[in-house]
Amino acid sequence: MASDPADFARMQPEELEPWIRSCGLGPSKARSIVATSRALLEQHGGKVPGTFEQLIELPGVGRKTANVMLANAFGTPAIAVDTHVFRVANRLGLAAARTPESTEEQLRRRIPVELWGQAHHWLIHHGREICHARNPECSRCPLLRLCPEGQRRCG
Ligand code: SF4
Repeated sequence: MASDPADFARMQPEELEPWIRSCGLGPSKARSIVATSRALLEQHGGKVPGTFEQLIELPGVGRKTANVMLANAFGTPAIAVDTHVFRVANRLGLAAARTPESTEEQLRRRIPVELWGQAHHWLIHHGREICHARNPECSRCPLLRLCPEGQRRCG
């Protein structure tokens, strides 16, 4: 159907939306994908740019997505803070922050740079599997002994 920015740029968001719905993405993401594809063609020769500053200029791309792209597509050290990373990092005491930006900054100071990309995945995985938002499974968590939030809940 569509495989590169030129294909997506030719589409209307309403055409794309049914194809991405099963991923949990809705009309606003469809609009962003089409707009970003057009921006890639017009401003970057159809290629995804490789710097943070260029990435966050693209429609629908914020700090988290830019960092995901840097770490996973370009191998550039970056820590993307999504809802899981934010929650787990702050529960574990790796950060003491109220915002994703501040969490990212504190994690960058605490985690060796060569582990930034992997740490993002470790924290997401832990958040999905054990440290759930509503009911974290502290009693079976291997990090319980080290975790201030876990100690408070069931230590
Ligand atoms: S001990 Fe509980 S709060 Fe701490 S990381 Fe594990 S599941 Fe999350």
